[in-house]
Amino acid sequence: MNLSDEYYSLKQKYRKLFQKSTQEIEAKLEQGLSVEQLEKSYKQKWQAELSKVANNRVKNHCTGCGVCCRFAVSEFSPEKLKQKAENGDNFAYQFIKTFIPYESIEKAKKVFPQYIKMLEEQGEKDYYIYHCPKVTEDNRCPDYENRPQICRDFPDNPVGFLPKTCGFTPWKLQSESVLLKLNAEREIINFYLKELNKS
Ligand code: SF4
Ligand code: SF4
Repeated sequence: MNLSDEYYSLKQKYRKLFQKSTQEIEAKLEQGLSVEQLEKSYKQKWQAELSKVANNRVKNHCTGCGVCCRFAVSEFSPEKLKQKAENGDNFAYQFIKTFIPYESIEKAKKVFPQYIKMLEEQGEKDYYIYHCPKVTEDNRCPDYENRPQICRDFPDNPVGFLPKTCGFTPWKLQSESVLLKLNAEREIINFYLKELNKS
């Protein structure tokens, strides 16, 4: 499956999970639970699920393919990232300290062509591709023990797209639906809370 197909199948999966979660939540509300009680019990459930996802992540390991060192996508330009970092955004600070932008999209394409193809097929134009100038030709980090937290944390989200070579792929496959359902439930409960505040 190419990444565009993966993207559409992810959207479909989310839609189905959203419908399922809506039915589950509505059934609980019909049983007489208040939105606040529901939120409380779901928060506990989410916490437990997130811990499980985090525990499963540590059972997977980086295989050293080097793609995440050579291919980091951001919706922000270097200038915008710099500005965000100056305003206290720690992620932007680490990102800009670690990565530099590619001189051309062609160079980035060589690293993860499927990703760029997907962005092009979706008509996406507002993105920037970065790479770390420190990674060695044999995909080593020259200062691995002291690598930045954003490098240690990658991948931090099982819903994101990973190269097939990534050692965290089993974790992604195992955890993706859990995270999608959790996001759907959050969205639905937030909707009900908003409605409640209006009345
Ligand atoms: S600092 Fe090391 S781990 Fe992080 S992107 Fe660069 S080479 Fe990779
Ligand atoms: S993409 Fe995955 S396997 Fe490859 S270097 Fe990054 S974390 Fe390691």
